[in-house]
Amino acid sequence: MKTTLPSQSIDLSPEEIARYSRHLILPQVGLDGQKKLASARILLVGMGGLGSPASLYLTAAGVGTLGLAEMDRVEVHNLQRQIVHDTATVGKSKIESARARLQSLNPHVKLDEHSEGVTFDNALEVFSKYDLILDGSDNFPTRYLVNDAAFFAGKPLIYGSIFQFEGQVSLFDTKAGGSCYRCLFPHMPEEGAVPNCEEAGVFGALCGVVGSLQAMEAIKFLLGIGESLKNRLLVIESLAMQFRTLRLKKEKACPLCGENPSILKFEKENYEFSCRIDPSGPPQKEEMRFPVEVGVEEARRWLDSEKPPYLLDIRESYEAAVCQIKGSAFVPMGEIPNSLDALPKDRPILVYCHHGQRSLRITQFLRFKGFDTATSMAGGIQAWAEKLEPDMARY
Ligand SMILES: [Zn+2]
Repeated sequence: MKTTLPSQSIDLSPEEIARYSRHLILPQVGLDGQKKLASARILLVGMGGLGSPASLYLTAAGVGTLGLAEMDRVEVHNLQRQIVHDTATVGKSKIESARARLQSLNPHVKLDEHSEGVTFDNALEVFSKYDLILDGSDNFPTRYLVNDAAFFAGKPLIYGSIFQFEGQVSLFDTKAGGSCYRCLFPHMPEEGAVPNCEEAGVFGALCGVVGSLQAMEAIKFLLGIGESLKNRLLVIESLAMQFRTLRLKKEKACPLCGENPSILKFEKENYEFSCRIDPSGPPQKEEMRFPVEVGVEEARRWLDSEKPPYLLDIRESYEAAVCQIKGSAFVPMGEIPNSLDALPKDRPILVYCHHGQRSLRITQFLRFKGFDTATSMAGGIQAWAEKLEPDMARY
């Protein structure tokens, strides 16, 4: 069974008829279909790598209302893939930047702004205003939050994600009997267990492919044409240049949409990485459960305590030249194996890098070498700068 929106009695102006003429002459779209698009409301979660191409194509296609949910500002390193923004908008909010570009592309599209992004507090209310949600988020807490909010709000969700050279796309339409993200990946990984795009790198043009496929799925869904990705996962391997479609099914054991769900309502703690807080400085060596990772707030408490840890910057010299936390020792990652004798064995070692991924690997290496109290600073100097030292230079 296909879900289609009811035909609407919106009239298109002569300018719009001309603008959409290449759609109008497709029998599967036609005037009726174009009017459906003109009355549709789509929410884009994230105006980054996926939201950029998706928003451009949905705007060009004449979708009636696009909701833009994003809280970040444009940074220069976004421009490698986030093509709705440009050099002149670096420093502006991504919503403001995207609005200018999208409005100039197609002034007939109404843009609704959600400048707090999608959060636990607003998700259900925001979702209720839209026909379809398109997920362009780049982190696990938001992805799980979006999935669950779409389930509880009964809204179809176009999922897309990127990891390095691989992309995935699907349609999660639980109300129509389809699977959800948790049918694939039941629980959120531990913080730091899986690198995000910033840490792992992302192949820019692949964002164009995945975001455009999401837009295409959204348009097909609104028109009720073709075969959707409901209960299918499209996997794109860009290096091998292979597109594979895997069958998905609604999992009986899914904690959200399965037969005996453990997630019975929308609850905040399901979307937060746990954060260990200890006001008394770092645990000392004799303590058994010395954490492998700490957040930046706790790291600072440790550094400010009476027995501060040895603070170790393992980035490259060109990175350390941009910014460094005061009091750091500096040993680039590649030199660590030959520098073990220089590291203290009688005090905890707090390791950091740019985003917390390299430091986690070095922490694991150090522990293997007998430094039992090596700890990685989760989120790296980027999180430190964002949360604790906003004036610090970033890169
Ligand atoms: Zn499910």
